[in-house]
Amino acid sequence: MNYRHAFHAGNHADVLKHMVLVNLLEALNRKDSPYFVLDTHAGRGHYLLASPEARKTSEAEHGVFKLFGQPQLHPSIEAYLRAVQAHNPVGALVAYPGSPLLVAQHLREGDRLAACELQPEEAQALRELFHRDARVAVHARDGYGAIKALLPPRIGQVKYGRGLVLIDPPYEAQDAEYPQIVAAVREGLTRWPGASFAVWYPIKQRRTLQPFLRKAAALPARSVWLAELQVRADDSPLRLAGSGMLMINAPWQFEQAIAPALPQLQQVLGETGATTRLEWLRQPD
Ligand code: SAM
Repeated sequence: MNYRHAFHAGNHADVLKHMVLVNLLEALNRKDSPYFVLDTHAGRGHYLLASPEARKTSEAEHGVFKLFGQPQLHPSIEAYLRAVQAHNPVGALVAYPGSPLLVAQHLREGDRLAACELQPEEAQALRELFHRDARVAVHARDGYGAIKALLPPRIGQVKYGRGLVLIDPPYEAQDAEYPQIVAAVREGLTRWPGASFAVWYPIKQRRTLQPFLRKAAALPARSVWLAELQVRADDSPLRLAGSGMLMINAPWQFEQAIAPALPQLQQVLGETGATTRLEWLRQPD
């Protein structure tokens, strides 16, 4: 397997993002009909945590490592930890699964994943990771363009009426990323109305998110809500204070799986000034 040390893997942002993702997959698995997942910004799929250098500066020390060993966690957090543990069969946490690996772990025989990754080296690592898994297609391409190219999903004779689009960009272009995300979700909603959309976003200075969230609230969707975990006060444009998952057309009552887990994440991972929120931007009728 092609690993790379990753200092951010398993940090508080990954904990929130992947806890929500794992529970979304479990919700999808409660129905028999096959589903399709599009991971627009997939990364390399697998990260190494255990080298001594990695452990010293690793953000996982303040993230996923803190959760292991905590008694009586909410079942949604437990489900996430089980999914991470499944990639560490010896016991100690040395490897951290990225989103495409977490998705692949939950797929059933008829379900499919399309994972897009623009960076050639990362896409190659993904290809190697999934070369034996016929349920997973790796696309070395722009993930936003994939919404137009791959949706609505149809593979052979199978049309996938339901599923998930995960949008997890690096935000390197900073504020320019937000209009692209809103346009991509709008396009996706038109092409594939049966899907749920999950968008991860960073929180550095909360007020800068307002225009994005206002536009998200105005999307032509059945429901829009957000779940946020902030591990410290938000005041710096440089430091990640926390992050959020914007949920568009999430499965019915899915918020009930997430809301009670947030205060526990705050309690275990938070510093002074930590907060969480689950807020509806658009309630279903
Ligand atoms: N979703 C992954 C996970 O949860 O494990 C992490 C993804 S990482 C935050 C963002 C990735 O997007 C990087 O690997 C980067 O190379 C890739 N990327 C950047 N721009 C992209 C684009 N336009 N389309 C597809 N991938 C892109």
